[in-house]
Amino acid sequence: MRNFRYGRLEDYEGLSPENLEKMRVKNTGCYNCAARCGKVHVVKYGPYAGAESEGPEYESCWSFTGPVDQTCIEATVAADQLCDDLGLDTISTGGVIGFAFELYEKGILTKNDIVGLELVYGNHQAMIALIRKIAMREGIGDLLAEGVLRCSQKVGEGTEYFAMHVKGLEMAGYEPRGLKATGFGYATNTIGGSHNNGALALQELGIPIPRALDRLAEDGKADIVIYNQNQAALRKVGIVCAFAVSWGDWYKRLFNQMLVAATGIKEFEDWDYLHQVSERIWNLDRAFNNREGFDRKYDTLPPRIMVEPLHTKGGPGEGEIIKGLERFLDEYYKLEVGLKTVSQVHKSS
Ligand code: SF4
Repeated sequence: MRNFRYGRLEDYEGLSPENLEKMRVKNTGCYNCAARCGKVHVVKYGPYAGAESEGPEYESCWSFTGPVDQTCIEATVAADQLCDDLGLDTISTGGVIGFAFELYEKGILTKNDIVGLELVYGNHQAMIALIRKIAMREGIGDLLAEGVLRCSQKVGEGTEYFAMHVKGLEMAGYEPRGLKATGFGYATNTIGGSHNNGALALQELGIPIPRALDRLAEDGKADIVIYNQNQAALRKVGIVCAFAVSWGDWYKRLFNQMLVAATGIKEFEDWDYLHQVSERIWNLDRAFNNREGFDRKYDTLPPRIMVEPLHTKGGPGEGEIIKGLERFLDEYYKLEVGLKTVSQVHKSS
């Protein structure tokens, strides 16, 4: 919340699934998928009446509430629609808007910079206006369209500290200080601060496979971070939806057989072999990054996460911080294979 300063949004109750459901007009989904996880919502009343989006799902709900500390659910639907229509990523857009609100609060952005807008927390109208400006690269939107990393490099004045990103990608809506393996997953993610690519540690949210994790503990999590990254790589072998694998047991029963049927490669029948394949994919991904200059120093988190204790306004996790990133990385690099060069990856293959 408020650009990763707080771990709890006050008055969040208005964002309940029940309230969202009141606006739901239909379910939708990808071709032939029985889950139909897309939920279409239409705002019926108020200033955003007529707004319609296939969502917002969890991340978009977060990115258009927490960063600007607002709880108008209709504004969230409108923001989600705007991003879809204008081709903007909702997480990065919400992240850069939260960054702008903080710079305005600190006096680094002034009224002259944001002409006609009031970037005060809770102001969802300003959030909506900024989305349009970012897409059109109009006024302050031209700067914000660069994303938090390049934006902070252009503005200077120490704003790098407020740029919440990993490897240039704005962080997703899972708070690393409250979910330590997820934080380590962001840090080592080949694409940066995304919750995808195996970064989200579902074990910290209560799914004990392959084992349960204490979400606030830091030590002994490198094997799980690697496990999640390899699992995500494996799903990509079959271009399988990350949601669909969690529902029922079809994945464990059928995925290997589907791969054999589609490719004729009999080795895919064997899960041990598939796990080797997944490890190779992930290691190659990491080796590619390494060759392009994204070495260990880029496996990091924004300084705020490592120096500012989390404030949860009475919620669990008050005072949490990530202290042991380097210790984690030592363990991660020891367990991970082929991180240094592509030729080492070939050897491990
Ligand atoms: S579960 Fe996955 S495949 Fe199915 S509708 Fe949702 S996103 Fe599409």
